[in-house]
Amino acid sequence: MPNIVILTGAGISAESGISTFRDHNGLWETHRFEELATPEAFRRDPVLVHRFYNARRAQLKSVQPNAAHAALAELERAWPGAFLLVTQNVDDLHERAGSELLLHMHGELRKLRCAACEDVVRHEEDAGPELICRACGVRGRMRPDIVWFGEMPYGMEEIYAAVERADIFVAIGTSGVVYPAAGLVAAARGNRRGCRTIEINPQPTGAAAFAQVIAETAVIGVPKLLAML
Ligand SMILES: [Zn+2]
Repeated sequence: MPNIVILTGAGISAESGISTFRDHNGLWETHRFEELATPEAFRRDPVLVHRFYNARRAQLKSVQPNAAHAALAELERAWPGAFLLVTQNVDDLHERAGSELLLHMHGELRKLRCAACEDVVRHEEDAGPELICRACGVRGRMRPDIVWFGEMPYGMEEIYAAVERADIFVAIGTSGVVYPAAGLVAAARGNRRGCRTIEINPQPTGAAAFAQVIAETAVIGVPKLLAML
């Protein structure tokens, strides 16, 4: 039974209307993303960093999973071999579509983590420095459970182990030429199982490691993928 690993990126969320941080206007035009998404920024100005993530978290209430998210959940239910969905997205659209074997390598907007004791809690409303950790009682250290610049993505060991035993690797709505997709597709291509590598992207990135390209948006391309597998 074939094993499959699927990596999704910003493209699949964009089709649900999730704007990227770079599209935000107002406050975020005057702050570079790189100045907000770091542990240093959080230490320097936690109110500002919370405001940025509060805006992104609030946006989740007005968006819904799309046909691509639904198709991936359906694929998971029907797949006979090992299945792993890895997402770079910090929204919860995959979960809401029904995906379960899912790894958020860059964290989740609807979770907070205590920087003092590492306890993680679900949190759907606005957050701020007044919050107190339920586990250790420390105030002001609850931060978005997001992997910031300079921090290690979650689950890399598990992801690479799954890619090593994958027969099919698919990248959807993410650039195949930059990290992490570039590293994962190279590892998939070089594994001992002769892994089939597929990219779904309306503007294919031209990464040579992909044997097959579906030059479509995720909403069109993922159902095509299912028909192909
Ligand atoms: Zn704590």
